[in-house]
Amino acid sequence: MNFFSTRGAGPVSLDEALRRGIAEDGGLYLPESLPLFEIVDFNNAESIPDVARVLLKPFFAGSVLESDIEEILEETFSFTIPTRELQVADKSVALLELYHGPTAAFKDVGAGFLAACLTRLEGDVDSPLTILVATSGDTGGAVAAAFDSRAGIRVAVLFPDGRVSARQEHQLCCWSDNILSLKVKGSFDDCQLMVKAAMADKELSTVHRFSSANSINIGRLLPQSTYYADASLRHYRRTGNKPGFIIPTGNLGNASACIMAREMGLPIGPIILATNANRIIADYFESLEWLPRASLQTLASAMDVGDPSNMERLRHLIGEADVLRDQLSVSSVSDDEIKATLRQDFASFGFATCPHTATATHTWRNLDPALTEEHDWIMVATAHPAKFETIVEPLIGEAIPLPPDLEYILARPASAVSIDPTLNSLAAALQD
Ligand SMILES: *Cc1c(COP(=O)(O)O)cnc(C)c1O
Repeated sequence: MNFFSTRGAGPVSLDEALRRGIAEDGGLYLPESLPLFEIVDFNNAESIPDVARVLLKPFFAGSVLESDIEEILEETFSFTIPTRELQVADKSVALLELYHGPTAAFKDVGAGFLAACLTRLEGDVDSPLTILVATSGDTGGAVAAAFDSRAGIRVAVLFPDGRVSARQEHQLCCWSDNILSLKVKGSFDDCQLMVKAAMADKELSTVHRFSSANSINIGRLLPQSTYYADASLRHYRRTGNKPGFIIPTGNLGNASACIMAREMGLPIGPIILATNANRIIADYFESLEWLPRASLQTLASAMDVGDPSNMERLRHLIGEADVLRDQLSVSSVSDDEIKATLRQDFASFGFATCPHTATATHTWRNLDPALTEEHDWIMVATAHPAKFETIVEPLIGEAIPLPPDLEYILARPASAVSIDPTLNSLAAALQD
């Protein structure tokens, strides 16, 4: 299948879209058309890799990776993605747990898929690809874990000194020699500017062969569509109802994957974007004007985005705000509501949620009763609460046990190189 940029460039193959991440005209890649499925197409698909094989096959048509799909999907979905059924008072609801991967956040799915694909496309030890990642926390850890020890690929993770949690920092800094952990004396914005400057620098790009692995890469959205397909099919087969999804949203990558799955014919009902106090999407749906702004710091920090880059994809795929708001709803959740919800979730579910997930559970708890009558709902859990223990533990008054993968990561030795927030210091660090 061919891919085109939202700004017109293309066509390119899947391989090229994965390798580049961002299109040469600065746009985001989308498939030239989305395949349309029927539920019977998935009749023999029992597991997530089975569902992925059916759903993703058309995208691999003509790719050099076509014959490797089986292995790529086994590697990507090496952990479980269960849906937990809950009973809250007299209401049923489900929680799609996306946090059972190596770094305990949903980003492990996209990062794992990208690593499996790029290793097969590249993997050239003499001329390694360098993946640059600016991170405010979860993305860098997932990408580092996915590319750890992969031959022919190097990852440089840039993170702001003193602005990520201790556990997050450890996850960014405990990997093999092909992962370069750079602690930048500056802000997350500085890290992003350094990555952009490096990618725009012809000489550096030629020497290091840069690529990017954040959610502008279509290689993150494709595998993410799979868990929405799988969860909706299982629910539909069991109940005959199309479930609605409530999705914690920042850069709109995860929600875009759900919207793509619905466009491809999967049995998905209403989709609600749950955001934190960063209201850009809510304001867009109200005023019909897209007004990017600096992000506010909130307790759901991985969703602190003032200019969600995947909106460009959605506008291209679905339409502008007047069309989009008929197909999606949005709810904005304050820090005070997140705190109250973390306590409430623990009391009523019997286990803790994370501050990001709490934006979805809060939204469900406050849904219009007509909507809870009319539809079944699946709330999306994007990270394990143990990643955000400094926020969650004081609220629930209990220690949260670490999942084994996280325990393993935190026990590894960690080290980072400190650099100034300039292109020169990044270039020097890449040289060493
Ligand atoms: C990245 C992240 C989000 C936001 O996902 P987007 O795809 O950027 O909308 C939500 N929760 C957690 C835990 C995350 O790491």
